[in-house]
Amino acid sequence: MDDPRYGFFYDVIAPRNLTDEDLPVIEKKMKALAKQNLPYRREDIEKAKILDLFKERDEPLKCELIDEKVDGTASVYYIDNSPFIDFCLGPHVPHTGKLKAFRLLALSGAYWKGDAERPQMQRIYGTAFATQEELDAWVKQREEAEKRDHRKLGRQLDLFSIDDDYGQGLILWHPKGGIIRNEMERLLREELEKRGYSFVYTPHIAKRQLWFTSGHEGNYADSMYAPTSIEEEEYRLKPMNCPFHIGIYKSSPRSYRDLPQRYSEMGTVYRAELSGTLHGLMRVRGFSVDDAHLFVRPDQVSTEVSDCLDFAIKVFETYGFEKVKFELSVRGAAENKGYLGADEDWASAEEQLALALKERNIVYERIEGEAAFYGPKIDIKIEDAIGRVWQLGTIQLDFNLPERFELEYTGEDNQKHRPFMIHRALFGSIERFFGVLIEHYAGAFPLWLAPVQVAVLPIADRINDYAASVTTELKEAGFRVEANLKSDKIGAKIRDAQLQKVPYMLVLGDKELEEQKVAVRERKQGDIGAMPLDEFKEMIGQQKQLRSL
Ligand code: ZN
Repeated sequence: MDDPRYGFFYDVIAPRNLTDEDLPVIEKKMKALAKQNLPYRREDIEKAKILDLFKERDEPLKCELIDEKVDGTASVYYIDNSPFIDFCLGPHVPHTGKLKAFRLLALSGAYWKGDAERPQMQRIYGTAFATQEELDAWVKQREEAEKRDHRKLGRQLDLFSIDDDYGQGLILWHPKGGIIRNEMERLLREELEKRGYSFVYTPHIAKRQLWFTSGHEGNYADSMYAPTSIEEEEYRLKPMNCPFHIGIYKSSPRSYRDLPQRYSEMGTVYRAELSGTLHGLMRVRGFSVDDAHLFVRPDQVSTEVSDCLDFAIKVFETYGFEKVKFELSVRGAAENKGYLGADEDWASAEEQLALALKERNIVYERIEGEAAFYGPKIDIKIEDAIGRVWQLGTIQLDFNLPERFELEYTGEDNQKHRPFMIHRALFGSIERFFGVLIEHYAGAFPLWLAPVQVAVLPIADRINDYAASVTTELKEAGFRVEANLKSDKIGAKIRDAQLQKVPYMLVLGDKELEEQKVAVRERKQGDIGAMPLDEFKEMIGQQKQLRSL
């Protein structure tokens, strides 16, 4: 069976409890069996016979499974002249020699069918690849990912927490995480302003009827929190921002001259995710989407999408993601998935999305049959510092909501027309993107994002006054500075700042005081020499302004 975190797992009841030390032993045995190229033989057998077979072997759980799953006949796999026999729908590899590169990774407890009343088993997790090279690369990436785990770094750097007293999947952003978020939002705001977006703000709940109109009650109710009543009227927390922006569009009559309307909002939404699926910042129950909705005339689609693409590339480049991948999801050629909207609208929309990609010279993958039933879309994926690919934002065309909410504009011909709607988010969830960033940088944020940009470290108490004046001057110049005026040894102070991954440390001693200079240590390069404070200010001022990496 497969598990996305590992690869596969197998549940067993062993004569004694297995420990981590057993895994290499089992692995060794597996390797020995693989070497023998033992063939698997498949046999299709009547249900009653299979049941007898496993009763004889005293495997009551397997019998239970067979009883439930099998109707008529089913397949059983053998390795001849060995005790191996298993009830499995298959397929299997033809022989054990096909297993070339595998690794057992972890153990956990598992209840039969997840039921705490039933027997407890042990679950062995493992992974397998076609070649040893691929396995080695995967193991290395996994070790690297563990070092960068955003939950661990989040604690170490005091960025955020999740507290069961408040609820799982609900993020408390600490002051230092808040600084980073503010910088992330500042970059977005600057770009949104440049690109003619309006900033809107909308509530977190709305009348239940709205969610019937939008279709969320019909298709999305499982992900929504239960309704709450106010004066006998039902309300629901929002899982998406779209209907609210539609409300703003509908608040006035629109003419073709008013389009496009571009509304943006850091909109907080709530999703009823199961506790077992929650994971740090990556999967949460409440998060903010860097959301925008564009209401456009059909002839404006490609220009608007083209600008969204430019926006995405600009932003991800600033964060240092060199590999941004785009996928264009269109309708399937043959099948009819009950796609909404007229054929000519689809054709025109798909063509315009492709045109926008082409105009930006973007190499993209075209995926047939992956479009939503309500429109084609472009998905944005990035590759992080250790080669993992993250699906982030999307540029999604929508023929459905304009129809459901009966959106209109008056055309040049004085007739009513329906606008196209584009849902656009670059990060998707700012919480999740924050998690990706923490792991991408391994906590060492570039200067423009770093919660503390400069640590001022006097070597002894007698330098504290000079340290305080340097700190004040840097703060007045707009930098985030912390002075460590404790009586610790300078080595300990440097180690502290290094652990906090502060980009620059200024080590101040008698010589620096006398010459009115600062001795600069850069987080990665170490000592880069002494310089007048003005020179240092200019250097980091430039880095901050350019958002250098
Ligand atoms: Zn939307």
